[in-house]
Amino acid sequence: MRTTIKAPATIEGIGLHKGKAARVTFLPADGATGFRFISTAFGEPLPARLDRVAGTARGTNISDGKSTIYTVEHLLSAAAGLGIDDLDIEISGEEPPAADGSALPFAAALLKAGLLEKPGQERKELKLSGNIEMAKGDSRYSARPSPGVSFKLTYDYPHALVGRQVVEFTLTLENYLALAAPARTFGFTHELQALKAAGLALGGSLDNAIVIGETEIMAKGGLRFPDEFARHKLLDLIGDLALAGLPLKDIRIEAVRPGHAANVNFAKLLLEKAKNK
Ligand SMILES: [Zn+2]
Repeated sequence: MRTTIKAPATIEGIGLHKGKAARVTFLPADGATGFRFISTAFGEPLPARLDRVAGTARGTNISDGKSTIYTVEHLLSAAAGLGIDDLDIEISGEEPPAADGSALPFAAALLKAGLLEKPGQERKELKLSGNIEMAKGDSRYSARPSPGVSFKLTYDYPHALVGRQVVEFTLTLENYLALAAPARTFGFTHELQALKAAGLALGGSLDNAIVIGETEIMAKGGLRFPDEFARHKLLDLIGDLALAGLPLKDIRIEAVRPGHAANVNFAKLLLEKAKNK
């Protein structure tokens, strides 16, 4: 059975990378239409699918070839993490609000709207029949059939305050909300200038990101988890894998140093090897 939401829910704020006023309204979807963006910039709803990915620089962007929506991964992570299959996402502007840098405000809005099962609508799932492995640059991925949906993610970065963080996690709605959704995005002070020069992180602040300096970590209210960075990378991975358009089933995924470009390639590989497309 497929799941959508019962009622509309709106979130407003500013976009992380473009720094402009942003608003999204989640809308129930009657049909088996997956995640779609609706905007006055598009004639037709734009499916949040792998074949629409137009960029992966510090976030995942999708496009219809003319207009682009930036940084879709946190919002998609929330929808997929809650087990939602079909959702229309009305967006004003070109980027969802950064919220607090995590997926929790999106997840909370979706839960407040209420989840709605749609009897009679078949839920196709992505299952593997064998093991797969992938390497791209420094990123490594593997996946194998295994009961439930579980992840092991390793993040490491050569910085005294970061080091190596490993998070393991079985994907359930409760675990997603408690262990992944609250983890915030982060950046390093040494890269901020270059990011801004590239037109990225323009809306970034301590309200919506953790900033890692040479000798201190600046996080509003302190870190939410000692390994918040790895958990955020897991949140990102869940959001990027949602672009496959099929919920995961009976799969164990392990990722080392994942990034958006590699996540998207891995999602393509998963879909290619899936036994029940
Ligand atoms: Zn992220």
